[in-house]
Amino acid sequence: MNPFFNIDKKIEANSQKALEKCKDAFKYIDEITEYNQLKVQKAFIDNGISESHFASSTGYGYGDRGRETLDKVWAQVFGAEDALVRHNFTCGTHTLATALFGVLRPGNKMLCVTGTPYDTIHNVIGISGEGMGSLKEFGVEYDEVALKDNVPDLEAIKNAVDDSVTMVYIQRSRGYELRPSLTVEVIADIVKVAKEKNPNVIVMVDNCYGEFTQKLEPCEVGADLIAGSLIKNAGGGIASTGGYIAGRHDLVEKCAYRLTTPGLGKEVGCTIGMNRELYMGLFFAPHTVGEALKSAVYISALFEGFGYDVTPKYNEKRGDIVQCLGLENEESLVAFCQGVQSGSPIDSFVLPEPWDMPGYDSKVVMAAGAFTLGSSIELSADAPIREPFYAWIQGGLNFHSAKICAKLAAQSMLNKGLLKGGI
Ligand SMILES: *Cc1c(COP(=O)(O)O)cnc(C)c1O
Repeated sequence: MNPFFNIDKKIEANSQKALEKCKDAFKYIDEITEYNQLKVQKAFIDNGISESHFASSTGYGYGDRGRETLDKVWAQVFGAEDALVRHNFTCGTHTLATALFGVLRPGNKMLCVTGTPYDTIHNVIGISGEGMGSLKEFGVEYDEVALKDNVPDLEAIKNAVDDSVTMVYIQRSRGYELRPSLTVEVIADIVKVAKEKNPNVIVMVDNCYGEFTQKLEPCEVGADLIAGSLIKNAGGGIASTGGYIAGRHDLVEKCAYRLTTPGLGKEVGCTIGMNRELYMGLFFAPHTVGEALKSAVYISALFEGFGYDVTPKYNEKRGDIVQCLGLENEESLVAFCQGVQSGSPIDSFVLPEPWDMPGYDSKVVMAAGAFTLGSSIELSADAPIREPFYAWIQGGLNFHSAKICAKLAAQSMLNKGLLKGGI
């Protein structure tokens, strides 16, 4: 009990039960957090990071030591030969698109082996949209292998990866699907199957939401290229924008030629004071991801305790930070998001309402009370208003803050007579 928020006794009692259930999962998360923190710390020490690396540059940004060394630290942490970490990446989609356009050439074929990828990538590939300059318009072929029982179909992948395939594309996170995230172990299995069939194939992983959720990262099990957003896991809640690409040296170089221009690549790009927050974000990332994982596990246990369908469950293995709750109807989704928002440090007074978001075919309600606009390593919840009425929740800069938001979400549902569990 605390003097700052009014939470019903029955919700508090359920919260206690949830915390008991989470003990083992929390212990395991602590182990991963510590392992990854030491991994990051060692990379800082090995690269001799000092205040001089935080110096700002302007103009062309030639020889920006902070930028060049950050790439080296990043490569070491992610088990890659090289990396391209830049505030210039506007979002995760931009980063992934840079990697795809950087590596693929006309006549090449991209094969997504985890079903249809994340919505915003559709226009990049050319699955939808016309006249925007998709890969398809530049003559890159695309095909996909569907999931089987919600997991990658290794047999079908084996059949599909022939000599015509240039890139095997894997999405680690569940995105806005109800399928489980891919663990690094499953990614390793896909790499093995794909490379056995075609040793030259490039395996690329959309690593969004996956960073630091496990001890190993995809490049450590044979992935050739990974990419992600800095306003998710890898920015530690500190980076205010940006993205990263990491992997094989020759591929990262091609991505750099795409981000800037052929011939210039990594040599240009001033950092206008961004280095310090990108270093600091990476330093914080393992711990912040640990807090986000604990938040997800707790929310899962709490709402399962009320009688809702949850995925993943508190004791299931996770390859990302996303938690889904089946809240069963529109009223509950809205009340949930309103409760989360009411406990957020920023914009707590805002009342989320469902709206027709561009690019979605149903209304969406979301809670997003974040220091960085749109950041989803900070606690955030999105729910499309349609069957089967699930909310997608991710983030939590610190567990205690996310925990009160989860209780307030339950309280908001209770206030409207919507909360299940005999309460
Ligand atoms: C967030 C995310 C992206 C990129 O999205 P942005 O909103 O552009 O940052 C791509 N793939 C997955 C799985 C994601 O979670």
